[in-house]
Amino acid sequence: MHKSGNIVVKLARWRTLALADASKETLEILSRLVGFDTVSDRSNLGLVGYVEDYLRDLDIPFETIPTEDGTKASILARIGPQRPGGVILSAHSDVVPVEGQDWSSNPFELRIENGRAYGRGTCDMKGFFASVLAAAPKFKAEHLETPIYFAFSYDEEVGCAGVAPLIQRIREICDGPRACIVGEPTGMEPVTAHTGKQIFQCDFFGTPMHSSLAPRGRNAITAAAEVLNELNRFVAELSCFKTSDTRFPITHPTINVGTIEGGKATNIVAEYCKFVVEYRHPPGTPENALRDELSTIFAAIPDQMGRFRETASYPSFLLPNGSRALDLVQQEGEPRQTHAVNYGTEAGLFAEAGIDTVVLGPGDIQQAHQPDEFIELSELASCDAFLQELCAELSKGTLACQLPA
Ligand SMILES: [Zn+2]
Repeated sequence: MHKSGNIVVKLARWRTLALADASKETLEILSRLVGFDTVSDRSNLGLVGYVEDYLRDLDIPFETIPTEDGTKASILARIGPQRPGGVILSAHSDVVPVEGQDWSSNPFELRIENGRAYGRGTCDMKGFFASVLAAAPKFKAEHLETPIYFAFSYDEEVGCAGVAPLIQRIREICDGPRACIVGEPTGMEPVTAHTGKQIFQCDFFGTPMHSSLAPRGRNAITAAAEVLNELNRFVAELSCFKTSDTRFPITHPTINVGTIEGGKATNIVAEYCKFVVEYRHPPGTPENALRDELSTIFAAIPDQMGRFRETASYPSFLLPNGSRALDLVQQEGEPRQTHAVNYGTEAGLFAEAGIDTVVLGPGDIQQAHQPDEFIELSELASCDAFLQELCAELSKGTLACQLPA
C-alpha cells in the first residue's frame, strides 16, 4: 500500500529526467495528428481512424463514441486491468480555425525548427495527445496494476460541447477512476482551478425598408447596439464580484462580445443582426449574472425585436485541497504550488462527474490559437518523461481502488 508521500517522491523525478528532446515517436505521431484538419466545425473521423488503427495494432481495447449524425467521434481506451480505480488522460482532438491568420507555412503540416514544432494544434493540444499515444506501448508493456484510460474528445474549442457523452460512457463502463489529467498547455505546471463559461447568441429582427424611408422601418443593428450599450454598463458591475482566490490573473467575472454580423447594404434598413457574447466566471462568483442581466435587458425590448439563448456552457473548476490527483503531478520537496487560470477546459466536467482532476500538459497557452502556433520540443520531452514516471507508478497499483480492510 502506498502512502501519498511515496507517489510524490517517485513522480518528482520526471522534472529532472535529462531528456534532451521529445521522443522520435512523439514527434512522428504529432506530425500525423497535425496533418488532420480537425477544426471544430469539421469531421474528426480521419484522426479517429488513425488513432483506432494505432490502438488496434497495440491490442489496446477501446470504444468509439460517435455523434448522432456520425460526423465526429470520441475515443475511450483502457490499458491495464479492468478493475476499479485508475487514471484518465484526457485530450481533445479539435483545433481552432486558421482562416484570416498569417501563417508562414501550412498549418496542417508539422514543421520543426529551432527547437520548436510548428503547426495548428501543436500546443493546444495535439502535443499532449501525441505524447500520450507514444507512451501507449510502454503502458501496455508494463503490466499495470492500475488501469489507465485515454479519453479523446471533440468540440472542446466550441465550449467543451463534445466531452459529455464520453464522460457518460466513462461512468457507465469504468469503475470509479480516481484521477484525471487534462493535458491542456500549462507549461507542465499543475492548474487546479479555472473559470466556467456560458455563451449566449443574441438575435435581433428588424423591419426592412428602403433607407430613404428609414424612420418607417425598424433597424435590427440599432436594436443590437442598444443592448451592447447596456452590456458595456454591466461590465463595470461585474468587477464587484471578486473571488478571494488570488491565484487568478483576473479575479472577477468577465464578458466578451466576440462576433457580430448583420445588415445587407447601406441603403437598406437592417432586417437582422446577431452577436455572440461569452461570460466567464471564476469559482465562487455568480454563475448566472449575465443570464439574469440579459433576461432583464431583453424583457424591455419592444415587439419581439430581440431574443437570446445559451449555445454552450461549462462549469468552473476547483480541485479540493489534499486531492490525491495532485500527488501525481507534484514536485518533490517544493511547496505545493498550483495555479488558477481564466481560460476553461474539460476539467470542470470531469470534476462534476466526481473525478479528481488536474490540468497539466506541455506548451504555453500564449501560443494556443495563434498563427504559427508552436510547442517547444523541451516541453514535449518533459511530458514524455512525466508519462514514463506515471507509468512506473501505476505499475505498482497506485490509485487502484483499495478493497475494504
Ligand atoms: Zn485546448
